[in-house]
Parts: sequence; structure tokens; C-alpha cells
Amino acid sequence: MLSVIIRFALLISLAFIAAILASSHLGSLFGIAAGIAVLAIPLIYSYINLARLRKYTIADTVESMPLPSGYWEEIFFRLQRLVRNLKQQIRSVEKQHNRFIEAFQASPNGIVMLDDQDQIEWCNAIAERFFGLNFKRDALQRINFLIRRPEFIQYLTRRQFDEPLLLERMGAAANLSLMLQAFPFGDKRHLLLIQDVTDLQRADAMRRDFVANVSHEMRTPITVLMGFLETMQSLDLDRAQQNQYFEMMMSQAQRMKSLVEDLLTLANLEANTLPAPLQEIKMPTVMALLKNDAEALSQGKHALNFEIATPCHLMGEEREIISAFGNLVSNAIRYTPDVGAVTAKWSINPEGQGEFSVSDTGPGIASEHLSRLTERFYRVDRSRSRDTGGTGLGLAIVKHIANRHQAQLIIDSTPGKGSTFTLRFPKERIAC
Ligand code: ADP
Repeated sequence: MLSVIIRFALLISLAFIAAILASSHLGSLFGIAAGIAVLAIPLIYSYINLARLRKYTIADTVESMPLPSGYWEEIFFRLQRLVRNLKQQIRSVEKQHNRFIEAFQASPNGIVMLDDQDQIEWCNAIAERFFGLNFKRDALQRINFLIRRPEFIQYLTRRQFDEPLLLERMGAAANLSLMLQAFPFGDKRHLLLIQDVTDLQRADAMRRDFVANVSHEMRTPITVLMGFLETMQSLDLDRAQQNQYFEMMMSQAQRMKSLVEDLLTLANLEANTLPAPLQEIKMPTVMALLKNDAEALSQGKHALNFEIATPCHLMGEEREIISAFGNLVSNAIRYTPDVGAVTAKWSINPEGQGEFSVSDTGPGIASEHLSRLTERFYRVDRSRSRDTGGTGLGLAIVKHIANRHQAQLIIDSTPGKGSTFTLRFPKERIAC
């Protein structure tokens, strides 16, 4: 302030001196003109600088404006520093804001921010996908106008957000199960967190189905067994009849045993997520074993053919491989009517992959069943499966063993003609 007063006093003094000097030499008119001229110089200079400031302000380039000299230099310098600092602050706030947005976008969960009127303030791309929203279009729209599900509207209206809400059949294909919960924050605002629980729900449903299936599978032989026991208790049977009943009871007990064994095998396979070890499995030994079992099962009713086309070995877990191959062979025999033919073959294809295939001349399988055959307890021919001692778990076990050996299970079947089940192993598991 002091410097302004001094400068002003200096200017007035200069104008005064100039006026006195000019009037003493050239007359009073020149004196006034000289005084005005001295006063006008800083005024013009100020006006020029103001015009420049206006130009740079309009162009938003105040920071790059060349500094004038004199009194205006300090003003411009301070102004430039102020603008530079403000812009830097804005940039760092923007960066932080963008980082938050990026973090929210990276979240696998849907996030929606609602204001105190339940209008959408912001939502991430996942939430857009879950609810068919478009943030650019739907910003500041009330969410209950956009998500029209009655249970959601009720949840929002009740305002009891301690519990999450499960929304079924959501998403564009109506195939998502979403768990949504609102969390209050700030000034009557709410954060909606939405988690995709489709897989969890599916796993839960599968677990329930599985328990129901196992119970059903066990209940049938137990009921039959109890029926026999009651008959034996209430009737006075002779030795031959008793033996007949014992045999039937034994077959039911055997059925339960097979079921429990298959369930245990499956549970062990499911618990073991590691790839199978690379132990050399001698194929002639495996094929001989399979042939023996097949002959016992077929009892001469089928034409059996076991062949090794290429004498290469398989690297894997022998016990599991015998179980998987055995399942395929036993299925072929069990589902192929008498006088049919079953061929099991081990070969190496032109790509160097190992293939174990079992072909039969049985009833074949209609194409709509093929993708579901490896599901637990899925059966095409329920009664044939039961009559021949099937548990409905064989192909599920084969599939798990195939996965542990990075093998593919390929099913090729023509109804009325027969089926070929092939296990294709990667060349890394073949030793020639
Ligand atoms: P199961 O113990 O019932 O045989 P699997 O899991 O081994 O159970 O097989 C599932 C279903 O696939 C069987 O119930 C049967 O309907 C069908 N299937 C399996 N192998 C054959 C085959 N070689 N020919 C015809 N159908 C088959």
C-alpha cells in the first residue's frame, strides 16, 4: 500500500514539476499539457496491460503471458502463480477422482451411488450391465423408475437395509442372480452394492439336487431290502426260497455298495484339483485287465475286440485310468444287447495324441442327451441303467479323470446304430 502511495506521490510531483517547467518556458497552456502528458503515460501503459490481460484471460493462457516491466510485472507474476497453483490443484483433484472411478470400475461388483432423492449420481459399468442402465442417459433419474422389479421397489421404499436383497432372472438374458444391498453414506445418500451370485446359486441348487438324488438312489434299495426282510420275518420260507431272497437282498446291498463306492471316488476326484502325475502306464497290462473284466461282465454274449494299434504308453495315474477305461467298456457291454459287438482300441492319432476309444453296436444316444451325459445321475435309459447295476455316476467319474489328465471325452453316437466314446490325451502324456 505504501509503495502505491509513494508511486502516486512521485507521479503527481513529476506532473507538477513538468507543468511548472513547461509553463515557465512555453506558457501556461504547455504547462497544463506537460502535466497531463506525464499523468497520461502510466494511464496508457496500464490500459495496454489491462487489454493484454483481458486477451490472455479470454484465451485461458494467463500462465504463458509475457511479463511486462514495472509495477504490472508483480501483479501479473502473482496472478500467473495463482492461476498455475489453482490449475495444479484442480488437476490433482481430478487425478484422484479418476483413480477412484477407475477403482470402482475395476470392482467385480456393481456399484450405484444414489442421492437423497434416490436419483443415480454415478454407477459403474458392471451395474449398467446388471440393470441395463446407461449412466450418460440415466444420470439423475430416480432408480425406481429404471429398475421396475416390485421386490426392489419395496426394498427401497421400506428403507430397511440391514439385509441384502436377492434378485433372480436379471440381466439382458434374464439369467443372472444378483445380491443387492444398500448402504447409507454422507447426507442421506446411499451406495448400492450388487454382487453376481449366479454361480453360487447354481452350485447351491446343484448341491440340493445332488443330496436329493443320492437320497433317492439309496432309498430304493433300502426299501426293497426292508421289504425282503419283512417277508422273511412274516413268512415261513423253506431253504430254497430263503436262498432266493438272500440273493435278491445281496444284489440290493451290492447296488448300495457300488453307489457309495462311486460317490467316494467322485468325492476324492473332486477334492484333488492337481493334474494327475506322469507315471508310465503299460497299455498291454491295462488292456489285458480290461478284457478280463469285460469277458466276465459279458459272459460270452458279445463279440469283444481289444486292440493296441500303436505300442505307446500313457503317462498318468494308473488306478484312475483303469477306472475310466473300465467304466466306458462296462457301459458299452451293459447297454449293448446280446450278440452285439464291443471294440476297445488304444492308438496314437496323426497329431501324436493318445486315443482310447470304445465302440459298440448298442442303441446309441440321441444328440439332445450328449451334452448332459457326464452330469451326476443323468441317465438316458433309467431302467436299463438300474437293471445292469449302473449308479448314474460312471461318466461323471470318467469326465473328472479325463480333466485330471488334460484329456477330452468325445462322444459320437447314432441312435439305432451304436456309440463311440473316446478319451483323447495330449501328446505330452504319451511315451513311445
Ligand atoms: P450308468 O451307471 O447309468 O451307466 P453313466 O454315467 O455311466 O451311468 O452313463 C450315463 C448314461 O449314459 C447311462 O445311464 C446311459 O443312459 C447312457 N450311456 C452311457 N454309455 C452308453 C452306451 N455305450 N450306449 C448307450 N447309452 C449309454
